[in-house]
Amino acid sequence: MKAYINSTNSKKLYPAPALFLDRDGVINYNYGYVYKEKNFDFMPGIFELLSLANKAGYLILIVTNQAGIGRGLYTEKQFDELTLWMINKFKEKNIVIDGVFYSPFHPVYGKGKYLLKEETRKPGSGMFKEALNEFNINIDNSLMVGDNFSDIEASINAGIKNNFLLRDQNKDIKDIKDIKDIKVIDSLSKVIIKPI
Ligand SMILES: [Mg+2]
Repeated sequence: MKAYINSTNSKKLYPAPALFLDRDGVINYNYGYVYKEKNFDFMPGIFELLSLANKAGYLILIVTNQAGIGRGLYTEKQFDELTLWMINKFKEKNIVIDGVFYSPFHPVYGKGKYLLKEETRKPGSGMFKEALNEFNINIDNSLMVGDNFSDIEASINAGIKNNFLLRDQNKDIKDIKDIKDIKVIDSLSKVIIKPI
């Protein structure tokens, strides 16, 4: 589902690479079901990374599971409001976010219409497909940054070959080393933005 689309960049004539990012644990610290501004603390290096990507001509696209909506912890409206607040925080630093896609569903704990095994929920690649429908993307040169294997699984399924797994906050992947198509990093400053 779409929370935000930058219409200026959504129908470019020539394909641009995209920097795809998970939200919780990559853009902001993952305290668990963050839906309030006061709990939204930006991760170190995120402004620098997105600024570099902007200048290099990458689209910046956020793909985030938000099962907290499905679980009834917060509403889509609250998520939308926090999204706009976040986009403005980036805008204050001259950083343009191009799209925010989210999946509010959960196959077990979702309530009502949100109780659904859905392709948009990572490790499904549905949010990447939504992004590909909305933007003219050069998938071969696109990147993904996530802090869970499910982020990377989703992006590999979508055909992305340059994946960064951030283990900064994530204890579960402490001992993981680089494997094919995945580079394990401990800081956002290690994401390599190639010129295009
Ligand atoms: Mg995450």
